[in-house]
Amino acid sequence: MPVKTKPVPELVPGAQHPMEKYLRTDRIPHIWCSGCGLGTVLGNFLYALDELGWDPDSVAVVAGIGCTGRIPGYLRLDTYHTTHGRAIPFATGLKLANPKLHVVVISGDGDLFAIGGNHLIHAARRNLDLTVLCVNNFNYGMTGGQSGPTTPLDGRTTTTPFGNFEHPFNLVHLTASAGASYVARWTTLDGRRMKQGMVEAMTHKGFTFVEIIAPCPTNYGRRNKIGEGLDELRYYAQHAAIRHGADPKEAGIVPGKPFLVGKFVEADKPTYLEMYAAKAAEMGGPK
Ligand code: SF4
Repeated sequence: MPVKTKPVPELVPGAQHPMEKYLRTDRIPHIWCSGCGLGTVLGNFLYALDELGWDPDSVAVVAGIGCTGRIPGYLRLDTYHTTHGRAIPFATGLKLANPKLHVVVISGDGDLFAIGGNHLIHAARRNLDLTVLCVNNFNYGMTGGQSGPTTPLDGRTTTTPFGNFEHPFNLVHLTASAGASYVARWTTLDGRRMKQGMVEAMTHKGFTFVEIIAPCPTNYGRRNKIGEGLDELRYYAQHAAIRHGADPKEAGIVPGKPFLVGKFVEADKPTYLEMYAAKAAEMGGPK
């Protein structure tokens, strides 16, 4: 028996979404599953860009591998989809070669904190002028739902079918401890706050970091009986507590318990490029 589907409404001929100018529409439809949080992240990044009003030629977006790593491919900007875990080295090269560029890294928890973890902590330590937007869905979604560095204790994944027994990273605490000058966390339920956090991170000097907690209903949600993407948003509504300025150590995530979101760190300190210029001047070299 044929499956009945609802007719897809036709777009008004010539009508455009105001954010379409930032999209490579020839790449749409996107690859993400129904209920995934990545569309919300992409949409809010476009609104953040629009609010900033930067010349698109002054922005470069870099990603590693994974479902999140597909975001830059949909952007009508200079974008780089790099090798696994190496988004930050590519971004570092771009920033050093052209310090006027606004360089943003958008990637997932596995890419940035497992194989790319060492790059991340050293970029934060140097306070290099980069913004890192990390979408955390607690597993490696693209490759089938394996456990990663943020999988909570007892979390079910394809590689931890009886429950994860490795302690997860608290990304807020880790980046703050490594030296980031701006650290925030939001969920995909907090669209406007997430967008505002992106704007703040992209305009704050130094290494800035925004963690975005997002549903992966296909892999993490299904295995952990969280339900569909909408059910996970309901979970955020019930469990996320906004606490600006909280101690990053308190930002650990334990399933079923309240967790903190908000702006944790906002510090003013010299960046890598400022320190480099000062040292070069001290040595009598070019500024
Ligand atoms: Fe999103 Fe998970 Fe599907 Fe990847 S596997 S597109 S993270 S829902």
